Amino acid sequence: MPLSDRRVASHDPLTEEESPAPRAVAPARKKAKAEEKPKEKAKPVVKTADKLAKLGLKSDIDLVLHLPMRYEDETQLTPIGELIPGDIAQTEGVVFDNEIAYRPRRQLLVKIRDDAGDELTLRFLNFYGSQVKQMAIGVRLRVRGDVRGGFFGLEMVHPSVRPVDDDTPLPQALTPVYPSTAGISQGYLRKAIDNAITRVDLPELLPEPIARAHLQPLNVPGLLDAVKTLHHPRADSDETALIDGTHPAWTRIKFEELLAQQLSLKRAHEERRTRAAPAMPRRLPDDEASLVVRLLRALPFALTGAQQRVVAEIAGELTLAHPMQRLLQGDVGSGKTIVAALAAAQAIDAGYQAALMAPTEILAEQHARKLRGWLEPLGVQVAWLAGSLKAKEKRAAIEAAALGTAKLVIGTHAIIQDAVEFARLGLVIVDEQHRFGVAQRLALRAKALNAADGKQDFQPHQLMMSATPIPRTLAMTYYADLDVSTIDELPPGRTPILTKVVSDGRRDEIIGRVREAALTGRQVYWVCPLIEESETLQLQTAVETYETLVATLPELRVGLVHGRLAPAEKAAVMDAFSRNEVQLLVATTVIEVGVDVPNASLMVIEHAERFGLAQLHQLRGRVGRGSAASVCVLMYSNPLSQTARARLQTMRETTDGFEIARRDLEIRGPGEFLGARQSGEAMLRFASLENDGWLIEPAREAAAQMLKSFPDAVTRHLARWLGAREHYLKA
Ligand code: ADP
Ligand code: MG
Repeated sequence: MPLSDRRVASHDPLTEEESPAPRAVAPARKKAKAEEKPKEKAKPVVKTADKLAKLGLKSDIDLVLHLPMRYEDETQLTPIGELIPGDIAQTEGVVFDNEIAYRPRRQLLVKIRDDAGDELTLRFLNFYGSQVKQMAIGVRLRVRGDVRGGFFGLEMVHPSVRPVDDDTPLPQALTPVYPSTAGISQGYLRKAIDNAITRVDLPELLPEPIARAHLQPLNVPGLLDAVKTLHHPRADSDETALIDGTHPAWTRIKFEELLAQQLSLKRAHEERRTRAAPAMPRRLPDDEASLVVRLLRALPFALTGAQQRVVAEIAGELTLAHPMQRLLQGDVGSGKTIVAALAAAQAIDAGYQAALMAPTEILAEQHARKLRGWLEPLGVQVAWLAGSLKAKEKRAAIEAAALGTAKLVIGTHAIIQDAVEFARLGLVIVDEQHRFGVAQRLALRAKALNAADGKQDFQPHQLMMSATPIPRTLAMTYYADLDVSTIDELPPGRTPILTKVVSDGRRDEIIGRVREAALTGRQVYWVCPLIEESETLQLQTAVETYETLVATLPELRVGLVHGRLAPAEKAAVMDAFSRNEVQLLVATTVIEVGVDVPNASLMVIEHAERFGLAQLHQLRGRVGRGSAASVCVLMYSNPLSQTARARLQTMRETTDGFEIARRDLEIRGPGEFLGARQSGEAMLRFASLENDGWLIEPAREAAAQMLKSFPDAVTRHLARWLGAREHYLKA
């Protein structure tokens, strides 16, 4: 067993070594006391080891790899006379006053004076009796905190405080600050980590050839060396590089972590090949009984070249007896739905069911309408399953899924609820998959596992669709275990959308254009401003906008759709719009994804400056779906922030979703781009895609080589760096 795997669960990390700093020992003493007096009411004492476990620090190796999140510079003392308000500084002085004041509220005021005679007030709003004693008159204190210019001179509120002697030396190097949690002091963590370091020798796990090929060029230190440097920076180390994460010691750690991530993703990908899924053979083009063949024949259009290519990629993989996990990306309007329908048809041809899940009810409903239109005439039963269905309808849909009479089940995440079971689920399609959180995707996966044929080891194929193209670095890290098919061509006959950026001072003129367009038979979307702070306010604005437009344009048939409408009402309005009974549709962002009304060719977006790029792109994608030349008017109101200006300019300059995604990433950075739920804690602790993207490629190459030649090292590397977090990577 490698040393690194030794557990420490049975002992407190502190007890083995020499006596720790006085502050840190407190929790242990408390524990001992509780044991001595069993008669005292048994309050559950949270052991520090348990608290450490909460931080994920269960073994020595966990502690050793618990690296600082930042550093504090305690190597300098600033004389009180030279403190500058607004700075964080460390200074020293002797207490000459110590009082508890009651105005405006109870607080402890401690005054210190340094050798030059300058004075500083320390203010504590929460404090213990022990602190009052610790800072008694005559004690010399070393304090560190934010300097403020108070009414009565300089002060620090809640500085960190340490009693010192005249000659207590200053630290020679930066002081690490660790990620922590309530009840665990930095001092305790430091000590525990230091002790763990003495017990563990942290062997290099990277096989020699891998290290030579991929680490040497990076010019980074050995692992143990790197870890020691980060925990205890030497006095002469490059402080700036340590703090901003560019130090070679950090590079070493980040490489190790990215390598673990790549290994995990690739392994998940390979592991899939060992699992069983239903093979769904392709039928010949002259097979009159084939649903795929009949669907293709019945379509009012021919597939684009790009659609044919991705259909072939998907169809080919469905014939294999292990689960497909494929991302279908294609810009808004590129025609992903028919590709999904053809995949479903292949599953049905092979005697299986398919499920299609969409993030919103409006979108799911659209899919249901479209796919019913295509499939029901061919004799396929399609079930519709959403949270808002009446109990009776829901029961009927669930039954149809369970009996297998419904060959295709379409719905929102209601599909993944426990009550729903499938007779023979062979394919799961998820639209706008980035809208679903990691947890939901895991739930779907679990369901899928149990669903197919009732056999645990039999898993349906998965097809995920997204109109938000994923930039390469993200694709490589977050989706590396997915295969990707890309539709890079729009259906023919579309005239490009003209985008105009217009100040809201020209509102009347725009309303005139709306009237004109509607009177010549075109349909129009009017998108209401986004009000993030208040849904109620947003609703109110939508209603007001609707009323104003109804009053200003009495000759038009105007509809209103927003998130608070009951699903049936929503559906009624959308239906009326798609049948051209409504000419002008006033809408909130509920129409953002997937809504498809080809005759709509003008869109006005109010307060466009409040929307994000991806959102604007999605919204704009609702027009330009038919043959009429489409216009999108982005109405803004001043003043415009610099990023808002950049966004609007991007929208005016391009309709290419990939280009927009690239610029979006540039403006916002990857964390926000993916949404908090997909980035963050589950993935990377040390590396960041923003700054360390350049390390991904070498990590990927190393991962490939390691999997091929050193499978044992792979397992050890994953255990060391990912531990329990690994399953998140597979969602
Ligand atoms: P998205 O990729 O945004 O989901 P859709 O699947 O909703 O796009 O397709 C957009 C519109 O284009 C729909 O009206 C669809 O029927 C139509 N469409 C799809 N493929 C073609 C094609 N090859 N030729 C013409 N129209 C097509
Ligand atoms: Mg779509």
